[in-house]
This record gives sequence, structure tokens and C-alpha cells, in this order.
Amino acid sequence: MALSVDQAAAWMAKAAQLIEADADRLTDLDRQIGDADHGLNVRRGFREVATLDAADYPDAAAYLKKVGMTLVSKVGGASGPLYGTFFLRFAQALTGEGAGVVEALGAGIGGIQARGKAEAGEKTMLEALLPAYEAAQAHAGERMWDAVVAAAERGAEASVDMVATKGRASYLGERSRGTMDPGAASAVLILRAAREAMGA
Ligand code: ADP
Ligand code: MG
Ligand code: MG
Repeated sequence: MALSVDQAAAWMAKAAQLIEADADRLTDLDRQIGDADHGLNVRRGFREVATLDAADYPDAAAYLKKVGMTLVSKVGGASGPLYGTFFLRFAQALTGEGAGVVEALGAGIGGIQARGKAEAGEKTMLEALLPAYEAAQAHAGERMWDAVVAAAERGAEASVDMVATKGRASYLGERSRGTMDPGAASAVLILRAAREAMGA
């Protein structure tokens, strides 16, 4: 599936809306195992993203590249550079490799891993993103986004029982167990927004 600039803009508008609605919950999760700013961080970033006018960009790749740069520059904390890199690499895959959305998703997640050096099981946003990408590959076509979102939700839920070994939550060691990773929770919102914008 090729992504239009209108779909990309609808994705970001919906993401901004879902993050706005859940920012307090994200911050509360980060209060349990981090420094109580995750909702504030991603909300600041996506508020800025929501001010971009998609009409200023020739295609989805150019627009999402700007989204990535905006998140890197406006969001303090670990999540800004990580989500920023996600969108930069996502955009790069759309242009350079002429990739579809599923391949771009894989490239974006690869960017997060290259930057953050985390793997599955370390209680990060990857707990939602990696299973989501697997589901996207397995369900390409019919109801793909339902499968993607369900896998992300299950993955975020599974992060509750994990001990963090990357990011701030890792400072807590065993005490990081019992709380959902804030970044996994925000990644679910970004994927729900993608489902909304890109349909089945
Ligand atoms: P900070 O921890 O700097 O305050 P945020 O609170 O905005 O930044 O983001 C925290 C989230 O970032 C974590 O919940 C986790 O999902 C994600 N994160 C932190 N480090 C990594 C990493 N190395 N790889 C992937 N995700 C990470
Ligand atoms: Mg934090
Ligand atoms: Mg912080």
C-alpha cells in the first residue's frame, strides 16, 4: 500500500488527538517507573506536529520527514529522538526504497533499535512495536490494522510483567515490574491512529 500525504496527515492528526486524551495516563505510568514526563513529552511533540500543514509537502515521505525532525527537536527525553528516528526512517523508506507502509514500519522500528540498542523483552516501546510489525507482515491485506493494533495492545500488556533493562525504568531494576511501559502505551496510540487513518 502506498501512503498518500493526506493519509499521513490524518494519521498524525489522530495520533495527536489520542495522545492529548491519554497524556495524563502516560505521565502516570512514567511516574511509577520513570520521571513523570512521558505524556508531557509526547504531547508537546505531537502538538507541534499537528501544526504542520500537509499541503506544504509534495508527498507523504517529505511530510513524515518533517514530522520526524519536529519530534527530535521538540521533545526532550528518550522518546523524542526515538520516535523522531522512527518517522525519519519510515519516511526514508517510502522515498529511497519506494517501500509500502509495512516495509516502512519495519524500517522505522529498525531505526529505533539502531538508536536505542534495545531488543524485545527490555520493557520499552518495542514491546508494542515489534509484535505489531510481525502482525503487519503476517496479515498484509485483509484486516491488517486490526491485527497490528491487537498485537501492539497484547505486547504493551506483556510489558507490565517485565523488568526494564533500558531507559530510566532500568534504574529501578526489579521494582520496574508491575507497571506498563509508558512508551509501549504511547506506541499503541500511534498505531491505533494509523489504523484509523489507513483503514483495513
Ligand atoms: P525519559 O525517559 O527521558 O524521561 P520519556 O519518559 O519521554 O523519556 O520516554 C520513556 C520511554 O522511552 C520508555 O517508557 C521507553 O518506552 C522508551 N525508551 C527508553 N529507552 C529506550 C531504548 N533504549 N529503546 C527503546 N525505547 C526506549
Ligand atoms: Mg520520562
Ligand atoms: Mg524525562
